[in-house]
Amino acid sequence: MDCDVRANAQAGGVVTIDLDALARNYARLRAGAAPAECGAVVKANAYGLGVEPVARRLHREGCRRFFVATLAEALALREVLSDAAIYVFEGPVEGAVEDLAAARLTPVLNSMEQVELWLHTGCPAVLHLDTGMTRLGLDDAAAEALAQRPRVLERLDVEFVMTHLACADEPGHALNVDQIERFEQMRRHLPWKKTSVGNSACALTGVSHAGDLLRPGIGLYGGNPFVAQPNPFEPVVTLEARIVQVHDVDRERTVGYGATYDTGPPARLAIVGVGYADGYPRCLGGRGSGFLDGLRVPLVGRVSMDMLCLDVSALPRDAVRVGRLVELVGSHLPLDEVAEAADTIAYEILTRFGGRLQRRYTGRD
Ligand SMILES: *Cc1c(COP(=O)(O)O)cnc(C)c1O
Repeated sequence: MDCDVRANAQAGGVVTIDLDALARNYARLRAGAAPAECGAVVKANAYGLGVEPVARRLHREGCRRFFVATLAEALALREVLSDAAIYVFEGPVEGAVEDLAAARLTPVLNSMEQVELWLHTGCPAVLHLDTGMTRLGLDDAAAEALAQRPRVLERLDVEFVMTHLACADEPGHALNVDQIERFEQMRRHLPWKKTSVGNSACALTGVSHAGDLLRPGIGLYGGNPFVAQPNPFEPVVTLEARIVQVHDVDRERTVGYGATYDTGPPARLAIVGVGYADGYPRCLGGRGSGFLDGLRVPLVGRVSMDMLCLDVSALPRDAVRVGRLVELVGSHLPLDEVAEAADTIAYEILTRFGGRLQRRYTGRD
């Protein structure tokens, strides 16, 4: 307990992850995806939130299929979940085939080369068709070539044929329909029937986009999967940081590097212990805000590596004390809003949260 208190007091920034909210977002996605099955994408350390507690809780909620990007992520997850299916987006690479098979990982096969690499293992795989994303997956020619190799078709054990939509975040985008049509065409001469198409956005915009297995990521973690629709998911993440020093300004001063902000007296400034090294975007200098005791206060001057400065003049004097936590992302400063102010998306804000931040979990684990 003493140790905990000390760790808390020392941490500059704290990320709190509400595992109950995560579970409710999963339930929402699962209901939206039904009758398709709902998996979970936990790549990049579960979008920065900590893959171990996140995956454990989702498993407790009944999730049995997990997606990660790399072999290293998959091996780490296998230590946490011994019985779930773990899919690896990058697929097999030379020299890693035996490791994949030994850990009972299921690679996504993205090319004919990867099909050849995996074939001899006799283990299951996912086959990825590129229908318009132009990132990974077999293109038309490769899919046709595969369709003309009956011996390979016979021996290859494909659980799902997958594709990934480029514009799922804009449900009305014409490319969604084009990609689904192309997917149907490319699959025509392949023997495997089960599909995996949709990400978070697709769960709530039509089952035809989900396939048989949904692959949601961002919605689980409370980000908005849509460009121009309200966020249907609950916030999961709160970023807070401690006030490390308070200034009562009694003469004209500038704040921070570059002296970009002038403050005249009287003003109160709070230096808060989170900076761009923790993943707080530097571009929010002069644009971001903090939240304390019912009030939003502006971030002034540039964001430093380890600190930022809030103008807390509007807050009652006794509210601003060294050691108090200030919210920087959370229910009062929505993740999507912070992302937009930083000209980016919630995905990037979450995955940039640094190793120096303390991660705290609430709710059942
Ligand atoms: C990251 C990823 C997802 C998850 O997408 P979200 O928008 O976070 O729901 C699904 N499929 C693939 C192939 C991905 O790379």
